[in-house]
Amino acid sequence: MASAPGSLESLRSRNRLHVLETVQQRGAVSRADITRATGLSRTTVSSLAADLLSDGVLIELADRVAPPVTSPGGGRPATLLTLNPDGGGVLGVHLGHDNVRVVYADLSGGVLGERQREIDVDHLPVDSLAYVSDAALELVAAEGHDVDRVIGMGVAVSAPVQLASHTLRSPSMLRDWSDVDIAARLRHEVGLPVYVGNDANLGAMAEWTFGVGRGADDLIYVMLSDGVGAGLILNGRPYEGATGTAGELGHVVVVEGGYVCRCGNRGCLETVVGTHALVGAFSQSRGPDTTLADVVALSVADDPGSLRVIVDAGRTVGRALAGICAMLDPKLVIIGGKLAAAGSPLLDGVREVLVRGLPPAISQGVVVTAGRLGHRAEVLGAIALATRSTSAHLLTR
Ligand SMILES: [Zn+2]
Repeated sequence: MASAPGSLESLRSRNRLHVLETVQQRGAVSRADITRATGLSRTTVSSLAADLLSDGVLIELADRVAPPVTSPGGGRPATLLTLNPDGGGVLGVHLGHDNVRVVYADLSGGVLGERQREIDVDHLPVDSLAYVSDAALELVAAEGHDVDRVIGMGVAVSAPVQLASHTLRSPSMLRDWSDVDIAARLRHEVGLPVYVGNDANLGAMAEWTFGVGRGADDLIYVMLSDGVGAGLILNGRPYEGATGTAGELGHVVVVEGGYVCRCGNRGCLETVVGTHALVGAFSQSRGPDTTLADVVALSVADDPGSLRVIVDAGRTVGRALAGICAMLDPKLVIIGGKLAAAGSPLLDGVREVLVRGLPPAISQGVVVTAGRLGHRAEVLGAIALATRSTSAHLLTR
């Protein structure tokens, strides 16, 4: 029975949800982190955590301790709390420009199964969504699970997402998808709640929840792939902006009068460091069959031409980021997407420009690092989105 609004019972329920959402948002956290994030007292957090542990919603990670960024005071390492992986399953999908990836995971983000297919999603929304629903149901069945056990599906798309309608805004890498209600179609096919988000924003959520950004409350995730975008975590929360399109770093102008971008402007960052632009620049001297993998492999082998392309790309990204870092003072800049495989030369290019272009107080504080989740970042972000969107549901199972 629902408790009366304003009663002690309903206050405790709200606080329980608040604690659960904090664990979901951050993946694995200490009780002290929860106290800081929620503003609840230590005693209240301890008591609510004990409830959630005894109900089997949370577990303690016996062999894991809080990373240094969350426990600067030293002393005995704090035990981390996380969602009970056995509490249910969750599906994640990444609809990329030329690839569709579907992952089935437990509630702590542990991948149970994965399917992916090269596909030209630009032109085939119906086929791509049919593939997604078939693959999702197969993955759940392959684990011997019933669909009732799955709490929801998250979908990362290479486009800004209209938050209210779950449809895509322009400029999108997915040209024929603007009127397709992805959430409604998939909900109809798989019979689960479906949540849709922008892939760069979800990459940020994934690195923050499961990856290198754990414990960092202010970070910028930069996705360098065919499309270029960024996701922001500010003050311990994903930041989506007034209209849900924050982080469109790919459309920051870096070359006055440069090439025309798919958004209609000239000289956007994406027209310079998007993988098509980079491969195009490189293929002028290496032939038309050059691929991104060739450019990256040659740079790892110290080929001067490919190193030049990658270091310059890093510097250009750094220029686009400098003003944003000056404004936001992030703790971490995480480089992800296909180009992140280029590693140090790319990161060094970004760092060099940030050190030169920012006041020392900010540039000394910001760490530029590669993402930890690689090609799974966006799909794991979709998993995190679905999990955190279903908090109340978890408490009533
Ligand atoms: Zn643009």
